[in-house]
Amino acid sequence: MLTRAVNDGIAYHTDAELLGESGIRIAFSERYGGVSSAPYDTLNLAAHVGDEDAAVNENRRRFMSALGAGAYADRLVTAEQIHGASIVRVLGEDAGRGARAGELQPPIPGTDAIWTTEPVTPLMLFFADCVPVVIACVSTRAIAVVHAGWRGAYAGIVGATVRAMRAELGDVELTAYVGSHIGSCCYEVGPALVSQFASMFVTIPRASDHLDLGAVVAEDLDRAGISRERQWHLEICTAHNTNRFYSYRAESRAGRHCAFAMLEPQP
Ligand SMILES: [Zn+2]
Repeated sequence: MLTRAVNDGIAYHTDAELLGESGIRIAFSERYGGVSSAPYDTLNLAAHVGDEDAAVNENRRRFMSALGAGAYADRLVTAEQIHGASIVRVLGEDAGRGARAGELQPPIPGTDAIWTTEPVTPLMLFFADCVPVVIACVSTRAIAVVHAGWRGAYAGIVGATVRAMRAELGDVELTAYVGSHIGSCCYEVGPALVSQFASMFVTIPRASDHLDLGAVVAEDLDRAGISRERQWHLEICTAHNTNRFYSYRAESRAGRHCAFAMLEPQP
């Protein structure tokens, strides 16, 4: 279950029970408690949006410290998100790729889904309206972080990540967490695109010009074998709540909040 926590002035959504049971630390950040100036104010965690590298690095440091993962900040793994459908398994040797903005080790190129079974190798992806998804396996201790915009959602990147994990872990039980993203209330995309989704996803009504990305992701997870009972959705619209989250559609130039997951050294 996702609950909101505030630590050192930084708000995030996490599952404390999951952490206690299995040493799997997950979090979705909000936007305050950092050092970035407008329009990135203040906890922008992404390096690619035009913010100052030093501010991004300080924000990442603060966020990971607030979570209790500050000791592993140098092992953070990020990815160059391209709205594609590629999935990468992160290995021990990948620790630190894209950990810091503006420094030598670049993020993992061209991927929107990363997963790992490596302890203390934190995964982080960045969002402003797109759907953040974290997947966790308690029995085998595995985690995934997925970025699903409409292209990725349409391509089924979330379900594909579940299948990629199961291909290597076996038929394990997985839990999915879906963070804040743009709601159908604010996501007007036109009837042609909605109709395209409706022919792929039964939960999407054909006659609409607003798209419900949360419903698409829920159905994709369900089809991949993570039933609704094992899905936790924050159900907060980013565009409606720019006081707490970044919204590309509402703000145009904006920072990015994150989805985060890490395996503690021990369960
Ligand atoms: Zn809205």
